[in-house]
Amino acid sequence: MARVYNFSAGPSALPLQVLEYVQRDLTDWQGCGMSVMELSHRSPEFSDIAGRAESDLRELLDIPDNYRVLFVQGGATTQFSAVPLNLSSAGQRCDYIVTGSWGKKAYKEARRFGDAVISADAADSHYTSIPAQETWDVATESAYLHYTPNETIGGVEYHFVPDSGDVPLVVDASSTILSRPLDVSRYGVIYAGAQKNIGPAGMTIVIVREDLLDRCREETPSMLQYRVHADSGSMSNTPPTFAWYVAGLVFQWLKAQGGLDAVGRINENKKNKLYAMIDGSDFYTNPVSPAARSWMNVPFVLADPQLDPLFLKTAVEAGLTNLKGHRSVGGMRASIYNAMPEEGIDALIELMRHFEKSHG
Ligand SMILES: *Cc1c(COP(=O)(O)O)cnc(C)c1O
Repeated sequence: MARVYNFSAGPSALPLQVLEYVQRDLTDWQGCGMSVMELSHRSPEFSDIAGRAESDLRELLDIPDNYRVLFVQGGATTQFSAVPLNLSSAGQRCDYIVTGSWGKKAYKEARRFGDAVISADAADSHYTSIPAQETWDVATESAYLHYTPNETIGGVEYHFVPDSGDVPLVVDASSTILSRPLDVSRYGVIYAGAQKNIGPAGMTIVIVREDLLDRCREETPSMLQYRVHADSGSMSNTPPTFAWYVAGLVFQWLKAQGGLDAVGRINENKKNKLYAMIDGSDFYTNPVSPAARSWMNVPFVLADPQLDPLFLKTAVEAGLTNLKGHRSVGGMRASIYNAMPEEGIDALIELMRHFEKSHG
């Protein structure tokens, strides 16, 4: 069986061990004679799966008791509307820091529901850095401050938690969650689509501080209300059961790696190797300011963009796939989430060296 090193930004690689567990149990989950896909979400079997996934996630992220964990659908993009509808009143100001495409999309969606304001924008640097916090113009009466801790397309990541005073911090953590420890207590809402670092596409995790559940607008569709999901254990309708189960296996795998401290060290070492290779070469460049470089998504360009197709073809022949950069940026992008082993980074570096030698 030939597994490739899959550098896709999302849906992305899953740990092989998780896939093997799924395969082993696919037609008969633990002797119940059914696949998890066929289990009622109200069955005791699924309750166990769901409960264990939540408690493992709580353990991994050390989630305080006054936070609720919701397993919902609709992707991170649905949260772009759920956030203003749950946290702000009509016309209330909401602050957005825009450091790339996803943050801009979140802002644009929020404008449909209230007075969303861009309080800082990294456009000046062509979205290759994070504006200094002193320059942010956040209102004290704001419903919340939203930012994107890792911009998946640009490869721009915050290496600090902004101080928002009493204004709740809201983050789209889709491409950074579980990559290292996170101080949940600093946030009002953390949300993340599953398909990068959690599990299969089709599920979104929302971690919300309990006191914020009461701010929801009357007219908010019930399926978007955090309160509805919190009160029903995310089972007010049929949840994405199979994705929830696979996510639970990923959480167990992360615990077996030694938890997020250990996972963070592995990820730090992986990205250090890759950036060192890029910085040490005259042929490859990463445009992001060193203080804002992403641990999870590493974009790079070749000295001669005409060589891009040949580079990608050579990569695929070597078993390294999905390295093409986002259509809006061009060049290459290596997404190196938790499931990408260090050997995958080594293989990429070797390919890059070899390609540079032959074509640089
Ligand atoms: C992938 C991604 C999204 C979009 O997620 P969907 O689940 O497709 O809606 C939003 N924000 C960030 C930071 C992402 O990486």
